[in-house]
Amino acid sequence: LIQLFVPLNVLGFVYREIKQALIDMEHMFGLMDEPREVEDPADAPDLAVAGGEVRFEGVRFDYDGKRPILKGLDFTVPAGRTLAIVGPSGAGKSTIARLLFRFYDVTDGAIRIDGQDIRTVSQASLRRAIGIVPQDTVLFNDTIGYNIAYGRPDADPETIAEAAQLAQIAPFVEQLPDGYDTMVGERGLKLSGGEKQRVAIARTIVKDPPILLLDEATSALDTHTERDIQAALERVSQGRTTLMVAHRLSTVVGADEILVLDRGEIVERGRHAELLARNGVYAAMWQRQQTAADDAGDASTADAPA
Ligand code: ATP
Repeated sequence: LIQLFVPLNVLGFVYREIKQALIDMEHMFGLMDEPREVEDPADAPDLAVAGGEVRFEGVRFDYDGKRPILKGLDFTVPAGRTLAIVGPSGAGKSTIARLLFRFYDVTDGAIRIDGQDIRTVSQASLRRAIGIVPQDTVLFNDTIGYNIAYGRPDADPETIAEAAQLAQIAPFVEQLPDGYDTMVGERGLKLSGGEKQRVAIARTIVKDPPILLLDEATSALDTHTERDIQAALERVSQGRTTLMVAHRLSTVVGADEILVLDRGEIVERGRHAELLARNGVYAAMWQRQQTAADDAGDASTADAPA
């Protein structure tokens, strides 16, 4: 990213936008001030996406050459399906997302999209294929329309309005005096966490990527907002291969496969009902969340136990 950033900076064009995009991604991945070592091989071809199948083959990874973080992960997300990754804090959930986006290369094994090792294709094409809805979206100091269209600057007003509708931000925007021309961000209208997340969802709908990375917010939104956002996310993940890092188990119930990760290993896997029937780690996590939710008087805002 630094390599991409510096020449663009020197050229002095789209400086702010590029910088902001990097901030957005870095923000999601917690990557500030870290060395970036991945490089494109000479004449790397673009990723050719067929359906968007994602496959991890014996993936091992460590950040520092010492402490193993992922200890041999094998899983496949068939094209268009949803995989949810749950587990305690520090288990390696976000690391899986970082590796798929190729912020780092695997230490051992391989990650493939439609059969192509992601180390062999251009990073730009890889990142075009993946849409991210981060925990906390940083908005550009520009109009709300610009923020939604970001990623496809040629998007026409109808496309933007349609995406806003799907992401359920349209009613909010349309009651503003300046509508989609309203300035947002630090120097404009401040949006709530839920509103920002809806903008991120609308942005992803406009980008229309075959693969989605969802990083569920740890901070609880109010129940109503939470449900709306969940519904919008389900809609946007339809027909796209989706990897979801989840903190609330209530959001993974419909996933095609759930991986329970603990200290870099898959300790359980299956669908929600199968995992409950197994009465193991997942069932215990579910139980704890239900109890916490009952105590809080609300089933959808309890955080996953860490
Ligand atoms: P959480 O639910 O708290 O977000 P997680 O399961 O997503 O946790 P990761 O962020 O993938 O966990 O981190 C897994 C392990 O890797 C942690 O022990 C963390 O300290 C370590 N780690 C994460 N990023 C780095 C880094 N840049 N350098 C060194 N170690 C790191």
